[in-house]
Amino acid sequence: MRVLLVEDEADIADALLRFLRSQGHAVDHAPNLSEAQAALDVAEFDAILLDLALPDGSGLTLLRDQRRKGNRVPVILATARNQISERIAGLDAGADDYVAKPYDLGEIEARLRAHGRRASGDPSTEFRLGELRIDRAGARLFRDDVEIRLTSREWALFEALLSSRGRVLSKSALEDRLYAFGDQIEGNAVEVYVSRLRGKLGAGAIQTRRGLGYLIP
Ligand code: CA
Repeated sequence: MRVLLVEDEADIADALLRFLRSQGHAVDHAPNLSEAQAALDVAEFDAILLDLALPDGSGLTLLRDQRRKGNRVPVILATARNQISERIAGLDAGADDYVAKPYDLGEIEARLRAHGRRASGDPSTEFRLGELRIDRAGARLFRDDVEIRLTSREWALFEALLSSRGRVLSKSALEDRLYAFGDQIEGNAVEVYVSRLRGKLGAGAIQTRRGLGYLIP
């Protein structure tokens, strides 16, 4: 998933960035409202993890602004523990969910995945694709109960295609899902990952639409 992390405390942001990237997400970090706004102006995200107290204002301002513009991206607020009123204000402003600070990394990852599934229109955590069984909550994949191991980038690509099943995703849309701003992108990275996935899942698992992109039928 492409995630925008809006968090001003550098240590916390670093730990989150490291963790979320290790899980295969493409994460952009904004330490304040204006950088978050700039990122939202030029890229589409699958989720925003939004701190409330930021140096140039409240995260709620950004949230209300995005909702006013019709942006329906899932927003998870970071609220102080025991601050019920903060949570209510956030949910009323259009947030989808909240996590209490200090962050629990595993909880954040689980909530991101849950919102990603919901946004793709299918909140179920397990389903079948031909002879493959996919455990989306655990990010695991099986054929005949034998696990097929994917790297985090391979999984991110697979999950992006799966979330848009039946629709063609262009190479640049897939790059957006795989890479954050400033990441070094090899020109043929998407082709390489698609080819590796086909090697693991079977040649027919991912189809190419020449000149348009890729899809899981
Ligand atoms: Ca803060």
